[in-house]
Amino acid sequence: MEHTSLRRKIHPKYVYLGAIVVLFGLSSYFGYTSYNQSKEIEMLMQERNFFLLETASSTLSREEERALASSTIAELSERLSLTAEELDEIEDNYREEKNKNDDFEDQIKEISGTVGVLDKLSKTDKELLQKYSKVYFLNEHYIPEKIVPIEKKYLYNESVSKSIHGKVEPFLNEMIEDALEDGIKLWVVSAYRSYNEQASLKGAYTTTYGSGANAFSADQGYSEHQLGTAVDFTTEGLGGGLTGFENTPAYQWMLDNASKYGFTLSYPEGNAYYVFEPWHWRFVGEKLARDLDRANASFYDWEQRKIDEYLISIFD
Ligand SMILES: [Zn+2]
Repeated sequence: MEHTSLRRKIHPKYVYLGAIVVLFGLSSYFGYTSYNQSKEIEMLMQERNFFLLETASSTLSREEERALASSTIAELSERLSLTAEELDEIEDNYREEKNKNDDFEDQIKEISGTVGVLDKLSKTDKELLQKYSKVYFLNEHYIPEKIVPIEKKYLYNESVSKSIHGKVEPFLNEMIEDALEDGIKLWVVSAYRSYNEQASLKGAYTTTYGSGANAFSADQGYSEHQLGTAVDFTTEGLGGGLTGFENTPAYQWMLDNASKYGFTLSYPEGNAYYVFEPWHWRFVGEKLARDLDRANASFYDWEQRKIDEYLISIFD
């Protein structure tokens, strides 16, 4: 009864109104839900897009990186090739400069070598290898650059001092010592003679032999003695004299060995210039003495021009 009475109390218009409210509420709910869903979808879509975008952009940057990298490589390789070309060029230039320098160095060496040769030649007495003859004499005022006394033990007459060119002395000493080792005694009878000494000697010869003294090789050889490079030797069995020297073992030893010490026989047997002087040996340097020996020639056989080539090495 009470229920019936309530139904009775609710007017139908409120039922409709209620239904409308409920419907509205439901639609609102569903609408809201769908709104939320669409919002959610939208967000998801945005996220997706963002992801895609990001992915795309990161892909692009990688491509860009790749492109950049390859262009960098290309650039680097280009630069490298340029550098290689430059290096080649630099190397070429360097070689060219080096060659120039080498040429220059060679020229300097050549010049200094020439200067050295000229200097050595300028300091070498050119008279030492001059050929003297009846028409070409050594100047009467000529004095060797250095004259030293010969050791007394090498002299036949120790009481009379003898001198020799200072640069020839070591060669002389060595030769006499080596001869002695072979059992050969070589004594110096005469060596350096000044012009005045020679003049008085010539005077003595002239007194003794008259005009025939001019034929004496002592006359011709005096220029060589004035040089300080010529030595007259004697040996055992000659009583200190020169005559007969050609028949002694000492003479044979000299023929076989003197050139090794730079000495040569100025006036050999049968020479076309002067009489045979087996005792008279002139220092001309080892090279020239050996070459003359090999050529079986004498000092006076050769042209002065040819002999002069040996001047530079006379004391070598
Ligand atoms: Zn002599």
